[in-house]
Amino acid sequence: MVNTRPGEISSIILGQIEQYDRGVKVFNTGTVLQVGDGIARIHGLDGVMAGELVEFEDGTVGTAPNSESDNVGAVSMGDGLAIQEGGSVKATGKIAQIPVSDAYLGRVVNALAQPIDGKGRIASSESRPIESPAPGIISRRSVYEPMQTGLIATDSTIPIGRGQRELVIGDRQTGKTAVATDTIPNQRGQNVICVYVAIGQKASSVAQAVSTFEERGAMEYTIAVAETADSSATSQYLAPYTGAALAEYFMYRKQHTLIIHDDLSKQAQAYRQMSLLLRRPPGREAYPGDVFYPHSRLLERAAKLSSQLGEGSMTALPIVETQAGDVSAYTPTNVISITDGQIFLSADPFNAGVRPAINVGISVSRVGSAAQTKAMKQVAGKLKLELAQFAESEAFAQFASDPDKATRNQLARGQRLRELLKQSQSAPLSVEEQVATTYAGASGCLDASEIGQVQEFLAQLREYLVTNKPEFTEIIRSTKTFTERAEALLKEAIKEHTESSLPQKQV
Ligand code: ATP
Ligand code: MG
Repeated sequence: MVNTRPGEISSIILGQIEQYDRGVKVFNTGTVLQVGDGIARIHGLDGVMAGELVEFEDGTVGTAPNSESDNVGAVSMGDGLAIQEGGSVKATGKIAQIPVSDAYLGRVVNALAQPIDGKGRIASSESRPIESPAPGIISRRSVYEPMQTGLIATDSTIPIGRGQRELVIGDRQTGKTAVATDTIPNQRGQNVICVYVAIGQKASSVAQAVSTFEERGAMEYTIAVAETADSSATSQYLAPYTGAALAEYFMYRKQHTLIIHDDLSKQAQAYRQMSLLLRRPPGREAYPGDVFYPHSRLLERAAKLSSQLGEGSMTALPIVETQAGDVSAYTPTNVISITDGQIFLSADPFNAGVRPAINVGISVSRVGSAAQTKAMKQVAGKLKLELAQFAESEAFAQFASDPDKATRNQLARGQRLRELLKQSQSAPLSVEEQVATTYAGASGCLDASEIGQVQEFLAQLREYLVTNKPEFTEIIRSTKTFTERAEALLKEAIKEHTESSLPQKQV
């Protein structure tokens, strides 16, 4: 032991006091007072920002959703089992952010943008905050380019434009995921980056979706963000913002993007869980009073950027689940009011085999018709109206024993049009195929055929056009217009094909 005289000790202490503020980094730290259910109450984290990342002693990362002073509530991103009462917590001074880069394409990541597909690290040199302000009015321009879904029912009657937000809504197991995800393989060769966000779903469903994308060669331009049903509420809540941040990275680089949030009901439930545990007062359906805000600030980030900003776009297809078709519940009404239109899926037709079970009569697209391909607009004009009238007459005809001729004709046409809109999963149709199909139905060429034969007839007609009338395809592809020449060619094809194949109904 070294002998130190009292005079030396005091001079050492005095020296240290003099240098006290030099090289000392002051962190905003606190102590965990209470922990449970992934929520920690922390004392001493004064001045923490709303949404700031905090780090617990064991390395667990969390975020403080409220900007409180005395007693701060923080939610951990993991299960939070290793956080201990009395442990210290450090505020990082950073709002949650994720790395972003082109290397994310083809990968499956979690809400912190960490890879979960076992394919190793993702290189990146940039980062983006998970939450960032939506583009303002000046930064936008109106939606004008089509976002082809490949589904004839949507592209003909509920067209979607690039930069639009279109809600897909329906009961459980009505084909919501199928309608949204079928759009991704259809973007092949269209220069659209796709982001599929899976929230609170079964890991097997997510794996299934990703393997479908891989099989169809769509994964190379797609990123999947997945937080499955066993993930913490915080991660499920954050996943859509992470997806939006990844899409924004591409959007601000002048690219077109498509993001699917599957689904926002589960995100709202995760948010409710977090809020209740943070002891925020419950409101309607036990959601916190501000449950509108997580969805509105998320969906406002979808945009069509102005020409100064490079014309990039983010089209959003959020999905919401309803209970027994009740669209007046809290989350459905909120998201309906934020989006530019809805695709309603109904359980009854789905179970009766009408798939996709899109209820054309009540589905709308408020901006997409400005973006619809001209050729499609020309042929699909009256389709929606006819289908809506048919649905009404059909309901009425159940009571009438002997409908008049006009009603009979309307019913016959409607039944065939309904048949025409049926489409199996993962079987997208190109614009020219959709135009030919829609024209055949709308011009009454199918009225004489048996209902059961419609699908087959149309499939053969599409093939016939490819082999015998390549000029038709050429015209639609190059001019995007249903010209007189195209109509003449299509009429010829229908006539020739009908004569050779369609078994006529006995009159
Ligand atoms: P959940 O509420 O569980 O999320 P969902 O509404 O997303 O269900 P999907 O998972 O898309 O529904 O579809 C339900 C089932 O119907 C799936 O097995 C799917 O393969 C099938 N399906 C969906 N669309 C079609 C279609 N157009 N043709 C044939 N089968 C379909
Ligand atoms: Mg689903």
